Amino acid sequence: MIGRLDGDTWDIIVIGGGATGLGIAVDAQTRGYRTLLLEQWDFAKATSSRSTKLVHGGVRYLKQGNVSLVLEALRERGLLCRNAPHLVHDLAFVVPRYRWWEGPFYGIGFKLYDRLAGKLNIAPSRQLNRQETIARIPNVETENLIGGAMYHDAQFDDARLALALARTAADQGAVLINYMPVTGLTKQNAMVNGVVVIDSESGHSFELRARVVINATGIFADAVRRMDDGSAERMIAPSQGVHLVLDRSFQPSDTAIMVPKTDDGRVLFVIPWYDRVLVGTTDTPMEQPELEPRALPQEIEFILRNAARYLSHDPSAADVLSVFAGHRPLVRANGARNESKSISREHTVLVSDSGLVTIIGGKWTTYRKMAQDTVDDAIPVGGLPERACVTETLRLHGWMRRDDTRLPASGPLQMYGSEAPAVQAFVAQETGRGEVLHPRLPYTCGQVLWAAHHEMARTVEDVLARRTRSLLLDARASIEAAPRVAELLAAVLRRDQQWITSQVADYTTLARGYLP
Ligand SMILES: Cc1cc2nc3c(=O)[nH]c(=O)nc-3n(C[C@H](O)[C@H](O)[C@H](O)COP(=O)(O)OP(=O)(O)OC[C@H]3O[C@@H](n4cnc5c(N)ncnc54)[C@H](O)[C@@H]3O)c2cc1C
Repeated sequence: MIGRLDGDTWDIIVIGGGATGLGIAVDAQTRGYRTLLLEQWDFAKATSSRSTKLVHGGVRYLKQGNVSLVLEALRERGLLCRNAPHLVHDLAFVVPRYRWWEGPFYGIGFKLYDRLAGKLNIAPSRQLNRQETIARIPNVETENLIGGAMYHDAQFDDARLALALARTAADQGAVLINYMPVTGLTKQNAMVNGVVVIDSESGHSFELRARVVINATGIFADAVRRMDDGSAERMIAPSQGVHLVLDRSFQPSDTAIMVPKTDDGRVLFVIPWYDRVLVGTTDTPMEQPELEPRALPQEIEFILRNAARYLSHDPSAADVLSVFAGHRPLVRANGARNESKSISREHTVLVSDSGLVTIIGGKWTTYRKMAQDTVDDAIPVGGLPERACVTETLRLHGWMRRDDTRLPASGPLQMYGSEAPAVQAFVAQETGRGEVLHPRLPYTCGQVLWAAHHEMARTVEDVLARRTRSLLLDARASIEAAPRVAELLAAVLRRDQQWITSQVADYTTLARGYLP
């Protein structure tokens, strides 16, 4: 990819390789614009690998009466299920009922949710009696349980979807580079005409030119806006959300639990994910955006306390396999109105006087629509020829129907979609019968090599946190696996013993932050 950086002017340079920036790279390149994406660390390193992993319309927005927002998200949910069926799938949710009036209340709400999804609905919602509820969510608190209300949304693997977007953009001819921070913007006649970058691996700094530069840096958007205008108002109000990962005994079925009202009025999910259970989340306003946010003790305690109200076998801190925190890129209520181009309740596109296009807010579910809106607004800024968005029906890299018999029904190869047979053959060739990475992790050493050869993994953390989800599935096991990963990576990337030692040390420090 670095070899493809020539002196020519790019049509579009995208800063930021999370859901938003990667979606924009796919949109821009498939419209035929020459597109370059620059990510300061690794793709999805920040918020986009730390979500609840739901592709959802947002049942809770219905309660707030925000129907247009739900409609947009439900439509995007439907499109994503069609365009990436190997990474996004149906998930049933049950709201356990302990009071009689909750039956009609949730029943009506979920029917409305079904109706809003229209033809793209996953499956109709319905009421469950007490027995059916227990069969669906066996660890539910049964004292005073009357029944449940069941509805459907979709679930995904966020970091893997990010990678699928990166590879889709690359398949179409875009250039995407990780570990290449943008440190400044260049201007001509007071208009932004490029970026200054540093290649973190070589230490070289250079400038790149573009007709339009798009700032898709999520919680870091204000820092990039200030590279353009030192006095730009703050637009982002980060809000921290934490999840705990437990083993499957805490929700031993394929159905999730939705708790509509925790003791301070939030929504809490208990969700089966791979062979684990995710429980979360919180909503804690933070002063500053952080790349590696850490859960606060009171957030962990809040999740454990509220989960215990709905589970019969209560989790404790000792059961937690991993804790991960992320910052939501929420838009402040009254910032920079004069720059606003198109505002929806969830995302906003801004164009500064010097032509920097910034996209803020939104959620994973709506990344495609956000990308479409941003590129639409960037076209006149860059004086690019107008071309229509084509991503509504664009199949993402690895597309494969879920019922295709060549796709493993479950297990660690499923995430590769149509590439699974190639990965399987590669693993067999590289490591014989497929040496496992760690007895408590569902991955093989061959997958580490695949990540280095085909998925732009550059560090132990890239492999353990995002190409595989080892860090989230079992932080301790991932620390134990780190030396083997470092060795395997060093062989592919031609690194020495000193690199191995420092990679293992860095990863161990990071992963200890995921232990409760
Ligand atoms: C706890 C939590 C749960 C969530 N759950 C869901 C969910 O279930 N479903 C859903 O739809 N959404 C969910 N979301 C929202 C969703 O995760 C985010 O909206 C989305 O991931 C934001 O993506 P982004 O690309 O805008 O930001 P990011 O993922 O943060 O990406 C921005 C990127 O820009 C890079 N960057 C920053 N500065 C520079 C620079 N100078 N040069 C180069 N690169 C730079 C960063 O390194 C980063 O990778 C959740 C969010 C949180 C926090």
